[in-house]
Amino acid sequence: MIKNISVLGATGSIGRQTLDVVRHMDGVGVVALTAGFNYEKMAELCREFHPQLAVMADEASMGQLAEELSDMDIRLSWGLEGLMEAATMEQADCVITAVVGMVGLRPTLAAIRAGKRIGLANKETLVCAGELVMAEARKYGAEIIPVDSEHSAIFQCLMGVRDPKEVKRIILTCSGGPFFGKQRQELFNVTKADVLRHPTWKMGPKITVDCATLMNKGLEVIEAMRLYDLPAERVDVVIHRQSIIHSMVEFVDGAVMAQMGVPDMRLPIQLALTYPHRTACPVEPLDLLTCGDLTFHQPDLDTFPCLALAIACAKKGGTACAAMNGANEEAVGLYLQDRIGFYDIYKLVQGAVDATAFVKAPSLEQILDADRIARQYVREHTILF
Ligand code: NDP
Ligand code: MG
Repeated sequence: MIKNISVLGATGSIGRQTLDVVRHMDGVGVVALTAGFNYEKMAELCREFHPQLAVMADEASMGQLAEELSDMDIRLSWGLEGLMEAATMEQADCVITAVVGMVGLRPTLAAIRAGKRIGLANKETLVCAGELVMAEARKYGAEIIPVDSEHSAIFQCLMGVRDPKEVKRIILTCSGGPFFGKQRQELFNVTKADVLRHPTWKMGPKITVDCATLMNKGLEVIEAMRLYDLPAERVDVVIHRQSIIHSMVEFVDGAVMAQMGVPDMRLPIQLALTYPHRTACPVEPLDLLTCGDLTFHQPDLDTFPCLALAIACAKKGGTACAAMNGANEEAVGLYLQDRIGFYDIYKLVQGAVDATAFVKAPSLEQILDADRIARQYVREHTILF
């Protein structure tokens, strides 16, 4: 059983829900918390959970946190160095990686090399460098337990499966986001408020935009390929509006296993801490008699070209996934600042993937290069909008 955890990205949606899970569990301590810039929330969390180490993204935010916590004995740090320290704290047996974006890659690798259990929410890490991350996890014997609800569902469907060859395919479910059923021309003028209104999940802003473009499902196809060592052809996506079935695994004999539950991230987060056991969770139970009909549809790749692009990058592999991910992070950031329109996200990401030199079996440096070049492409081409 996990005794102590570090939470990277504690002030975010997954970070806060992780700490809520800890509130309801006996005997789990918090040894390190990291945040970006929200020092007020961080101060509140530090007062409640008393970590040994608290890390902010920059020196100025750390200074603000220091003022808030002047009466407390908590070591403070900032930047990548601080994140790396939080990821490798000797006392932590599990690191929850809930930062958003590529910034999570190096700390995740560091935690793996320190042999920690990783409760992995930060999907961008697996999208851009999944082969390297998984190889390091095998080498250092670090367990990676997915927190993303679909991948946790697959993980649960695979519990007890002895031979991976018995898996025929993975079926990722997708809520369809706020624009399910719409045609492309209806989405040209959608507002940011429409984009940020997700039907079933409440999440951080970046992933919420990714859910509206369906890029999130594309990232999850790649995440599933890396976690379960399957080619893109064996990872399918089906739209399931209700988010009750969190994903499925089809086996070679035709049996299909599904994991069901109300849409609440605290269940997969808790499982990352309790696995291989299960304990009571503060999540509302699923009531099959009131949850309504369960429906399934084909994804519309014309209205949501980001999903088609991600599947193409998944098939291509190499640096294509890193370029796509970096460009998408950058484009979503610009979208959230009202600098570009909804479909510009797709146009910029496609352009960046095409413009970034392709390497089939990249080193970490080449992955980071592809990420940097793709981001630069997006920034340079945004000037034209
Ligand atoms: P949020 O935006 O809510 O939280 C992100 C966290 O990362 C915050 O603590 C933020 O700090 C911190 N952060 C942001 N930028 C930096 C930086 N440059 N350096 C250090 N820390 C930083 O995101 P979510 O919780 O929604 O998502 C986190 C990850 O989990 C993402 O990869 C997402 O794809 C994945 N995920 C999320 C799900 C969800 O339900 N939310 C579901 C499945 C996966 P601060 O706020 O203090 O600035
Ligand atoms: Mg998900």
